Amino acid sequence: MTISSQDTILIVGAGIMGAGIAQVAAQAGHPVLLFDTRPDAAIAAKGQLARTLETLVAKGKMSEAAASGTIARIEPIPSLAAASAARVAIEAIVERLDAKRALFTDLEASMATDTILATNTSSISVTAIANGLRHPDRLVGMHFFNPVPLMRLVEVVSGLQTSPDVAEAVFELSRAWRKVPVHAKSTPGFIVNRIARPYYAETLALLQEQASTPAILDACLRGAGFKMGPCELMDLIGHDTNFSVTQSVFEANFYDKRFVPSLVQRDLVDGGLLGRKTGRGFYAYPAPPDLVQARSGTPTPLAPKRVVVHGDSPTAHALARLVAPVLTRFAQAPERSPQSAWTGIEVDAARLVLTDGRPASDLARDFGINDLTVFDRPLNPENSVTPGALAYANHRDAAESWKTQAAVWLAALGFAPHRVEDTPGRVVAMLVNEAADAVQQGVCTAEGADVAMKLGVNYPAGPFEWLSGWDAPGVIAVIEALDATYRGERYRVSPWLRRHA
Ligand code: NAD
Repeated sequence: MTISSQDTILIVGAGIMGAGIAQVAAQAGHPVLLFDTRPDAAIAAKGQLARTLETLVAKGKMSEAAASGTIARIEPIPSLAAASAARVAIEAIVERLDAKRALFTDLEASMATDTILATNTSSISVTAIANGLRHPDRLVGMHFFNPVPLMRLVEVVSGLQTSPDVAEAVFELSRAWRKVPVHAKSTPGFIVNRIARPYYAETLALLQEQASTPAILDACLRGAGFKMGPCELMDLIGHDTNFSVTQSVFEANFYDKRFVPSLVQRDLVDGGLLGRKTGRGFYAYPAPPDLVQARSGTPTPLAPKRVVVHGDSPTAHALARLVAPVLTRFAQAPERSPQSAWTGIEVDAARLVLTDGRPASDLARDFGINDLTVFDRPLNPENSVTPGALAYANHRDAAESWKTQAAVWLAALGFAPHRVEDTPGRVVAMLVNEAADAVQQGVCTAEGADVAMKLGVNYPAGPFEWLSGWDAPGVIAVIEALDATYRGERYRVSPWLRRHA
């Protein structure tokens, strides 16, 4: 089952997504038919596209011939009766199950039995959309991301009855359109919208607990390599949209606590503080969010008597490399204690401990010391020297002098330390855990999850790439510690992680 560039593609729905898909298909050489129930919407979409391509030509980003060819290949049609010859029909209409089912029932009645039917739904079950069709095996999800011409990911979503040949044909078609397709099983949120939930949910949970501020959490996650922090990203997406996706994933998972929506976000939605589009969300616009900047300069800590780097992990080795030049200022070298059960730096009687998910107060009790500071996992210790923002928390009973020194030491190592309340960090661990569960449940492969998260939401690395620089027991420890702190169903370790520990 192959689709050639000569084959006609029908796009139904000429809104943001439909217009983008039409552009991509026409650029790949297909004759494209574009239909919308709104009178003249398809003609208007073609006109808008012509203006966009003109701009690209003027900027030298596209040739005149490519632009005019693309536009010439798009034909707005006044009714679906003119579309029976299309080889593939892609739907990008309103996100309602009844509307999508009715459309595909109509299309099935007028089109050849081997026409491939594709839905661009972002949240509705492909299995449910196919229910009632005479040939449900030819319906597949083709989930593009916005803006379609720029975003390379396509989730090729198979429902219970989707034929593997149809999924494969659409996979190859996406490739021919210079996209990067990834196979997914139709489950709530598919790949990206499911695995990304903790990025928002865990941040919102930290805000609800007063662990920190949006600006600090954004700075720390940017420090971990994300292009946008979760709060600025939710402001951009719109809290109404983000909240409604969260709600639909929560409901579709039978109210699994892991996906529970946040009161913090509901408040923003109820108050009309929807983000950039209303001028106010976590931040006020049009001014850009006042993100906390990394501190500059290299402060010198008070001269220590003895510094020991504990642990034998890649992070421990990186810490040893970072601390060595600081100690040369005191004509010292760090000692090593690779057999220690913890990772971090001992400065005289005080400790800077890499998080294992436990709060500083628990660690301080277990170590029997007060001067203890816990810091978040630097995702890539070598690269985060500058300006790597890093969250840390002090044990509440630590001496004020140590609290000051803890921040100075972290800064001297090259981090931009941001103090947060003594609450365990969790965002990346929960992203990895969610991805592991998706793989466990056959939603996608580990490679597919990595590709999808990097291309669908611009993550700096895929969850399994993070895992390879960390380790499954380490992630499990963080989630188990979270469970011990919070008790409930939210922090459950994925069976996949246990099996790979
Ligand atoms: P949109 O509102 O911009 O466009 C939808 C278009 O469909 C409108 O022009 C509307 O007139 C038309 N329409 C509605 N019912 C129709 C019908 N029965 N027949 C023909 N045309 C009809 O919406 P959009 O953002 O382009 O989203 C379209 C689909 O793509 C939805 O299923 C959405 O969930 C999905 N999606 C959206 C995004 C996004 O970021 N906007 C991303 C991925 C997927």
